[in-house]
Amino acid sequence: MRLTINNLSYSYKQTIALSNVSFTLSNGDFMVIVGPNGSGKSTLLKCLDRILKYKQGLIQLDGEDIKQISPRTLSRKMAYVPQKDEYTMPNSVFDTVMLGRKPYIEWGITAQDIQIVTELLQRFDLSSLAMRDINTLSGGQKQRVYLARALAQQPDILLLDEPTANLDLFHQSEILENLATLANEGLIIIVTMHDINLALQYCNKAIMLSNGSLFASGGKEIFTKDNIDDLFGTTVKIVNHDNQTYILPQRKNNIRS
Ligand code: ADP
Ligand code: MG
Repeated sequence: MRLTINNLSYSYKQTIALSNVSFTLSNGDFMVIVGPNGSGKSTLLKCLDRILKYKQGLIQLDGEDIKQISPRTLSRKMAYVPQKDEYTMPNSVFDTVMLGRKPYIEWGITAQDIQIVTELLQRFDLSSLAMRDINTLSGGQKQRVYLARALAQQPDILLLDEPTANLDLFHQSEILENLATLANEGLIIIVTMHDINLALQYCNKAIMLSNGSLFASGGKEIFTKDNIDDLFGTTVKIVNHDNQTYILPQRKNNIRS
């Protein structure tokens, strides 16, 4: 599977949210999108999943324009995990994950659908919560339900919007370990996140967005002090330890120290 984005642009009524974004990914790629608040990260994911109907640019899956692919077929290839604080209708955990089977269901739910959902509930430690209303779950539990629902679609490409926001350290690592396993299985993973240090441990590709434009793109090498300071208006220090790069924000003045 090859995902190609060419000169993608998107505007809300007043705001240009994305302009001329291009990149290419293939099987097993784990890409992180970083950038300040409002730089277009969520808009990019929503254009990819066709939640937003972009008018400029081309998105292709193995050379085929995604606008030519039916929504049902597209949702067997690409799945989106929203930010966990987005509003949800009351629904049980089991039924929420079963919604991910919708692109496959012909006349009714089959034994195979039930088996896939049951296995995903087990994999994400959700079996004991199967009958609970999703709105009564903690942030971390909800996040796992959304991930399970997305995987029920058996996609080739997984899009996740800030999957680690507000999670404790254990659950942050757990989500990223799961995503790394999926990338090893050949999925393309695209994730937005603010914790660059965590992202650096897992991604092999990255893009930086600034005001809707591509500020930098490539591999981990784009996380230079200059790029990060320019992108976020910070003063960071880069530390290398055990073959791993760490980005440490620095205090700007020492007046009180
Ligand atoms: P990020 O996810 O990087 O924080 P977004 O993609 O959410 O950024 O937003 C990009 C820009 O588009 C921002 O200027 C934001 O205010 C604007 N925007 C986002 N959603 C909407 C919307 N539904 N209507 C109008 N403007 C929006
Ligand atoms: Mg966002």
